[in-house]
Amino acid sequence: MGKKRVGILGGTFDPPHLGHLLLAETIREDFDLDEVLFIPSNEPPHKDRPDLTAATHRYAMVVAATLHNPAFSPSAVEVNRAGKSYSVETVRSLEEQLGAETEMFFVAGLDSFLAIQTWKRFEELLDLCHFVVVARPGNSFERVLEVLPERFHPRVVDVRGGRADRADKGAGSTASEVAPWRIHLSDAVFLDVSATEIRARARAGRSIRYRVTPEVERYVQTHGLYEQAVPARGAVT
Ligand code: ATP
Repeated sequence: MGKKRVGILGGTFDPPHLGHLLLAETIREDFDLDEVLFIPSNEPPHKDRPDLTAATHRYAMVVAATLHNPAFSPSAVEVNRAGKSYSVETVRSLEEQLGAETEMFFVAGLDSFLAIQTWKRFEELLDLCHFVVVARPGNSFERVLEVLPERFHPRVVDVRGGRADRADKGAGSTASEVAPWRIHLSDAVFLDVSATEIRARARAGRSIRYRVTPEVERYVQTHGLYEQAVPARGAVT
């Protein structure tokens, strides 16, 4: 039996929406993954969000959003760790939890990947797992090589335009290779929805139906999430 293949989809998930689910399902299929972990961050290091919803609510919404797909699982690895959520620490914990017989595929939007040099211990992170870099259709991957130190360049694989075969995805790497990990450039579908837009709609009393699952919609309503005005920056509450 081959190694277990697990996708890692981190985010603020405030709230989780259909864009996240469709992305996860597309990547699950394209990379032949056994499971996709949805990992809400505790404190995102790269987002300045004074109005961030409590981690327990965001985690509960991820549970609700992933209920109906047996390949999707919520993970509390970041919400259970105090302070900022650094990906390198998350992947290290998952490595311990999942064991050496698991290959991890870390999903990152192109925008955040282009800032990889600002991520904590990013070279160590790139040496721990595969990456799947996702852009909006039409977006250019040109700058990916610019932001990566040269030793990572041979690992970049373009898998746009369909499923890559398993060898292309890293599993067929030779034992003599020090780092079998690949950085895959993917054109997985990007829906025109965002959590920012959904929060704004909910705040304005507008419908969020069909942008989130019915379970998430109910959760938002029951707990009255996104009803408060966004606090002004620096305001004392
Ligand atoms: P916000 O609007 O609050 O910044 P978001 O909708 O971008 O949030 P995140 O929780 O930050 O959602 O995103 C987590 C992951 O999902 C990231 O890798 C991001 O690139 C991806 N993602 C977000 N929105 C979409 C979408 N509409 N389609 C596909 N992938 C998405």
